[in-house]
Amino acid sequence: MSFDFDLFVIGGGSGGVRAARIAAGHGAKVALAEESRMGGTCVIRGCVPKKIMIFASTAPAAAEEARGYGWQGADAGDFDWGAFRAKLDAELSRLEAAYTRGLEAANVTIYHQRAHLTGPHEVELADGTRISAKHILIAAGGRPRLPGIQGEELGMISDDLFLMDKLPGRALVVGGGFIACEFATILKGLGVETVLAYRGDKVLRGFDNDLRLMATEQLAETGVDVRLECTPSALEKTGTGISVTFSDGVEDSFDAVIFATGRAPYTAGLGLEAAGVATGDNGKIIVDEWSQTNVPSIFAVGDVTDRVNLTPVAIREGHSFADTVFGNRPRNLDHSLVASAVYTRPHEAATIGMTEDEAIERGGVEVYDARFRPMRSLFAGSDARVMMKLIVDEDTRRVLGCQIFGPEAGELIQLVAVPITMGATKEDFDNAVAVHPTLAEELVTMRQPTRRHERPQAAG
Ligand code: NDP
Repeated sequence: MSFDFDLFVIGGGSGGVRAARIAAGHGAKVALAEESRMGGTCVIRGCVPKKIMIFASTAPAAAEEARGYGWQGADAGDFDWGAFRAKLDAELSRLEAAYTRGLEAANVTIYHQRAHLTGPHEVELADGTRISAKHILIAAGGRPRLPGIQGEELGMISDDLFLMDKLPGRALVVGGGFIACEFATILKGLGVETVLAYRGDKVLRGFDNDLRLMATEQLAETGVDVRLECTPSALEKTGTGISVTFSDGVEDSFDAVIFATGRAPYTAGLGLEAAGVATGDNGKIIVDEWSQTNVPSIFAVGDVTDRVNLTPVAIREGHSFADTVFGNRPRNLDHSLVASAVYTRPHEAATIGMTEDEAIERGGVEVYDARFRPMRSLFAGSDARVMMKLIVDEDTRRVLGCQIFGPEAGELIQLVAVPITMGATKEDFDNAVAVHPTLAEELVTMRQPTRRHERPQAAG
């Protein structure tokens, strides 16, 4: 049977674009459909604009630090949101064009419209055109999920933050995950009076408990009004803004409410039923370790599969899929050891591998835990504390996890991820000579375990 294409990719985000380019490089005839802007969540309304806004938001703290070093009158001045947004828009357009050019250079046919499945080997575009393909890759991503409360349509989602006409004077961020913590950091840094309401007792559920504690405390120390065990129950429009009623009965008013209450796979209306593709909770597409669905010709990568929802994971999944199916080079991704970072300020929270909570449950581990005030901010008069923690298997000596709370922790965890992924032992870390004076030297100079967690005794 002949097909129009060897591969049809639905979604022009990180995973889809990588898969399309690599498959084309292996000689496949490839098409890709994207209903919105090329680049997807990460490039257009996620990681990239977010990180640029994080950089923008650090100016007042940098000025304060400069004053601590003797710079008289150092001040960040006034932030011009309009000028910043124009520059941000231009940068995103540049990246979008680069993504498009990359696909064109690889001879991928691009359809700037929505596509949905009509069968195991066929998609239909928004204009009604039907296209057949030997393989179909779904890389449609995720979408913000709202909490389902009265008046929630008055709130914004993460996408909207990058499109605001002006900065709000007072904002409420709802949630305690990656996005809530980063957005509260950005808004506060840009001078917005910021409240973060989270239903739990510490932000960043799922992270190491000490990281969670430090991240929660830091948000409050930087001036975010952190309201824990509290979540909005209703929103109402008023003459001047949005009135919010919280679960504890308190009412408050804001110029803007931003929901960062999680994301869900973007699978609605994709025609999965028509093609017989099995889905799970939240509408996620169920795949095996090769990213293959129950329909052999259809694969899925990235947030639409709700495995580890991070850009580099989607990219690796897309690349692995293309190498396996079109490059005669079978490979897949171990999702159990993926590093990530939350870009709060002044310190970031970064993690790879086992948390201490998981270590306590497993037992048989040593914990090396260093806490200190770094030279740079201490000199400027700040009390901000760093934490570096290594979790080590007491028998094999292998480093099972690393947790870092500190300046540029995302950069540090990337480097630590290399030896940890290679299976390095604590002694391998110790063998590396320190670079002095740095923060990261702590990772190779922690001599004695701070504590041990014994293996649970076998019952009976
Ligand atoms: P997360 O799943 O990280 O956090 C969602 C937050 O919303 C949690 O604190 C959750 O509370 C809370 N929540 C969920 N439902 C409700 C509700 N009904 N009412 C009140 N609160 C609720 O999602 P995010 O939206 O922050 O981020 C989505 C994904 O994007 C992340 O999983 C991450 O993988 C990715 N991301 C990564 C970044 C990075 O790498 N730096 C940055 C931004 C996003 P609870 O904890 O109680 O469940």
